[in-house]
Amino acid sequence: MPKPSATTDDVSTAEEPPSLAAMLDAGDATAAPSASPKLSVLMDDRNWSDWRWQMRNRIRSVPQLREFFPSLKLSPGLSRAAAKFPLAVTPYYAAQIRALDARDPVFSMAVPQIHELFDPPFLVDDPLEEDHDMPVPGLVHRYPDRALLIATTTCAMYCRHCTRKRAAGHRESCITDARLKQVVAYLASHPEISDVIVSGGDPFTMATEVLDRILTALRSVPSVDIIRIGTRTIVTLPMRITGELVAMLKKHQPVYVNTHFNHPNEITPESAEACRRLVDAGVPMGNQSVLLRGVNDDPRLIETLCRRLVKMRVRPYYLFQCDLVRGVEHFRTPLARGIQIMEYLRGRLSGLAIPSFVVDAPHGGGKIPVLPAYVIMQSPTHTVLRNFEGMLVSYPEPSSGGRNEAPHVAGAPTVFDLTHGAATKIQPADTARQKRRAARAACEAPPAGMEE
Ligand code: SF4
Repeated sequence: MPKPSATTDDVSTAEEPPSLAAMLDAGDATAAPSASPKLSVLMDDRNWSDWRWQMRNRIRSVPQLREFFPSLKLSPGLSRAAAKFPLAVTPYYAAQIRALDARDPVFSMAVPQIHELFDPPFLVDDPLEEDHDMPVPGLVHRYPDRALLIATTTCAMYCRHCTRKRAAGHRESCITDARLKQVVAYLASHPEISDVIVSGGDPFTMATEVLDRILTALRSVPSVDIIRIGTRTIVTLPMRITGELVAMLKKHQPVYVNTHFNHPNEITPESAEACRRLVDAGVPMGNQSVLLRGVNDDPRLIETLCRRLVKMRVRPYYLFQCDLVRGVEHFRTPLARGIQIMEYLRGRLSGLAIPSFVVDAPHGGGKIPVLPAYVIMQSPTHTVLRNFEGMLVSYPEPSSGGRNEAPHVAGAPTVFDLTHGAATKIQPADTARQKRRAARAACEAPPAGMEE
């Protein structure tokens, strides 16, 4: 009998800034979803682990939402938001909701909110201007060597923060054979495209044989080296990763799968198992998170998420600034928050576990990495760099030969001294690393009276 998923661990992000988990622990959230009679019945259904059954039993309307969660307080405007931007939640993902209000990250990402109707003028339907970069319908060609194929408009769940709210779920359909032919013809006439991202919608919502047909068509173009698939089913419908699907993907290697975990509460035994199946089959996996206010805009929470992803052999790839898409203003964070999170991660996590924080630029400008400032100053002879501890180091440029170009004036070195080689570093006192070094030096020092 299928059982409710338990997350692999509870998130603990104690101390400031306040974590969602802490808020929930303290919480006065409305009744726990596990009390939902409807959900209990479904969880006991012998088909719970069948992805097609999950798709058929998705919550698709506000009355169904109410049927699942009778104690849900329906905010005014919720129905209008659901009418404007489609609603779908798999029973599996609904079972991950721990409290029926916006303090629960899973709830926030799945259930429409009235805030989606807030429509400031700088939000648009297609902020990345994908529709302008489509040489043939459904194929976005923006970067020189890559193209993105919108293969379907269906998703297991319609994420409330989706960047393709204009398309996802309004009419559930997948690419026709005629369209696919056009796509293949375009790729064949552009051999500079070596990497095709199959996206949507969610490509794993298509039947395995349909996806197989699409991948076979892409593989018929000799210049296509890499196929990447973007899917959130790992998170919202992990039972989709069947042996049959994995075997089909293996036929088309190299195939990379990028998924979309935003919060540690989404890492469950089921989603971890889905990742294991893919990685064990030799499918490299990456994760693309979106920074969302009230969901994951917490440095410690992102650290926890990245650590757990790496443990599952999923490389944290991107942390996206929320796009300027209509209906998501309530999720947007200031850019400074993302930079602050990156500052927090550097030095705490290995480079392998740190995603790139990027803004997908408006007007189709593409991904722009945004980083804390590590290059402090440059002169013709030296560059002054900052590390995660705040230590400033002078890096001599090749032409300088590392020479001092001016004498150091007495006193503590300044940043100016570093720019011309008069000093090599400015070291904050009392960092953890300094303390370790001092302790080691003390251990290695010969006892008094034993000096050579
Ligand atoms: S799965 Fe992806 S495409 Fe579908 S709604 Fe979520 S973010 Fe959008």
